[in-house]
Amino acid sequence: MSVKNLRVPLAVTLAVLAAVAALVAGPTPRQEAVSAGLARLPRTDAPTAATPGGENGAPAAGGTPGPIGGPGANGGPGTNGGPGANGASGAPGTPNAPEATPPASGPTPPGATPPGTLPPVVDHGPRTGNKVALTFDADLTDAMRRQLRTGAVRSYANLAIIDLLERRQVPATFFLTGKWVEEYPQVTRRLAGNPRFELANHTYGHAAFTPDCYDLPRIPKRSMTADVARTFDVIAPYGGRQTRYFRFPGLCHDRTALSALAPLGVTVVDGDVVSGDPFATAWRPLVRAVLSQVRPGSVIIMHVTEANAPMTDEALPHILAGLAERGLRPAPLSEVLSNGEPTP
Ligand SMILES: [Zn+2]
Repeated sequence: MSVKNLRVPLAVTLAVLAAVAALVAGPTPRQEAVSAGLARLPRTDAPTAATPGGENGAPAAGGTPGPIGGPGANGGPGTNGGPGANGASGAPGTPNAPEATPPASGPTPPGATPPGTLPPVVDHGPRTGNKVALTFDADLTDAMRRQLRTGAVRSYANLAIIDLLERRQVPATFFLTGKWVEEYPQVTRRLAGNPRFELANHTYGHAAFTPDCYDLPRIPKRSMTADVARTFDVIAPYGGRQTRYFRFPGLCHDRTALSALAPLGVTVVDGDVVSGDPFATAWRPLVRAVLSQVRPGSVIIMHVTEANAPMTDEALPHILAGLAERGLRPAPLSEVLSNGEPTP
């Protein structure tokens, strides 16, 4: 596995940051940009600083999605001893009143690292084998919440993505913000109840953990640890395949941010394939972006935020078809990173 501490590949960083800045600006940037002091960046439909011309990939899997091998093709829920074997998970009666969760008693969750050490930062798994991870970020900021409250936006939860993954029995990993979970408890319950889905942490309110993470509102250093701990506490009562994977908003991190996470015993997951789905207006560029970059062990970054990533569900069947053509098989993040070896 590729582990590093302070560096993210430049192209990935740029593409993600541009996407995140666009995302936070919201679909009606004028309003929100003013209130949040944000400037909407130019759309980066083709996050292909990494893929000049966007042409070196295979054709965008063109036409029909086609089944990616049908039920059973992905070998079941994967058995890396996920926490609680995901059991009945389903219905933690009152997700709004989570009990405190000390870092995992019982089986060690995937991504857990010794508390007190600087967390490893991972881009992808081993380049051997044929597994890749589909990861979906569930951002929710206060600005986005206001869009929901005013009715400017219908939903930041893309149920079509979840429907498709369930129908095809495709494993995926969801990086959830605490605010998104609080906004969508039923959807979170559904995610937790799927034995092929892993749950991971994407901060409480999608704030920036570095000074230069575009125009994301910044979280003070003193609040970083509590923010991420709180998010684990919000997610934990839902059960299912809990992990200690964490992804920074915009993939922005520095030593200060990493140090803040040291007490929490996490693994920081960036990713090596940026779909560029925020504010996409067409699905083909997403498909091309993913399929031109993906390799064995890849961690693909997408969003399940519907209004802010409206083409992802349309692109997904084509992405799945393209992966199948390449002999690549979606798997839970923990399996992609460990590839059969013990999770770090
Ligand atoms: Zn995000």
